[in-house]
Amino acid sequence: MGARDRGAGSPDEGRVRVYPASFEYFAPTTLDEAVEILGRYDGDAKVLAGGQSLIPLMKLRFAAPRAIVDINRIAGLDGLAEEGGVLRIGALVRHRTCERSAVLRGRYGVLGDTAPQVSDPIVRNLGTVAGSISHADPQGDWGSALLAANAEVVARGPGGTRTIPIDDFIQGPFTTALEPAEIVTEVRVPDPGPRSGGTYLKLERKVGDFATVGVAVQLSFSNGTLGRAGIALTGVGSTNIRARAAEQALAGSALDDGAIREAARLAAEAAEPRDDIRGSAEYKRNIVRIFTERGLRTAAEAARAA
Ligand SMILES: Cc1cc2nc3c(=O)[nH]c(=O)nc-3n(C[C@H](O)[C@H](O)[C@H](O)COP(=O)(O)OP(=O)(O)OC[C@H]3O[C@@H](n4cnc5c(N)ncnc54)[C@H](O)[C@@H]3O)c2cc1C
Repeated sequence: MGARDRGAGSPDEGRVRVYPASFEYFAPTTLDEAVEILGRYDGDAKVLAGGQSLIPLMKLRFAAPRAIVDINRIAGLDGLAEEGGVLRIGALVRHRTCERSAVLRGRYGVLGDTAPQVSDPIVRNLGTVAGSISHADPQGDWGSALLAANAEVVARGPGGTRTIPIDDFIQGPFTTALEPAEIVTEVRVPDPGPRSGGTYLKLERKVGDFATVGVAVQLSFSNGTLGRAGIALTGVGSTNIRARAAEQALAGSALDDGAIREAARLAAEAAEPRDDIRGSAEYKRNIVRIFTERGLRTAAEAARAA
């Protein structure tokens, strides 16, 4: 029944309901089959993982693919484990699995801190990390966390498997390096080393909201100095933004007060915020500065405790 069909006095009176356009539904059990189906539709088919971004878009008719390729029945995509110096996050690993994972605490702290801040428990039960970065919402939290952690994305397509650095994977608002018939099979995060720590700070209007501003920080120390700093920003640009100048200024430093303040200033400079319902550009830039400073101190403490 469409909105116009409802009679006066019906329980739905006055409510507007939107239904997706019709589509073909496929639930393959192998990756090869899934890639083949995607190829058949020549860019007019979509992968379905948790459905937490795709289904709302289809209901609003912002997306109307001819086919849906549901990957939830493909075995082997739900692993979350460290293997040979790399943390592997399979394409069907849910936000909730990350939230509960002991592996994501400690030196992978930026990931462990991000998971519980993504939306609400209902979305976290179904939504996936790979789906989040494939969706490439500039307000998505995982994009920043994975930039700070220097992740790589593994994609399978008709031509085989390729590995894409996260910086190259995120290309623009809701745009990635994925070809139409490619599927993300896993996200890989390099081991940041024993003296590492990270955090994710997120300002939201209320619990479950997208970020007004988010700042992801991951630090790795060696011999008392900072070897590598990863800093990335959410909600203050048309993509998640790597605060590259801030990272470079910190590398090799002793992370003293002056270095922290300068890095926070550079991160704020890298932000490209706009005035919107969540706040003014000036307000958001200031939050980036404060969160970067706070994030660096928290991550350094976590690394010391590691
Ligand atoms: C009410 C609400 C609040 C939310 N709040 C937040 C928030 O605060 N922070 C945040 O980061 N996110 C938030 N989200 C988004 C949520 O995190 C989604 O789970 C996530 O963006 C998409 O993951 P998914 O598995 O649900 O992907 P889907 O919805 O299934 O897919 C999303 C897109 O990615 C593609 N895709 C999915 N998996 C793959 C794959 N393996 N290979 C190739 N393409 C793929 C799909 O084709 C589609 O285009 C919110 C969502 C809702 C509904």
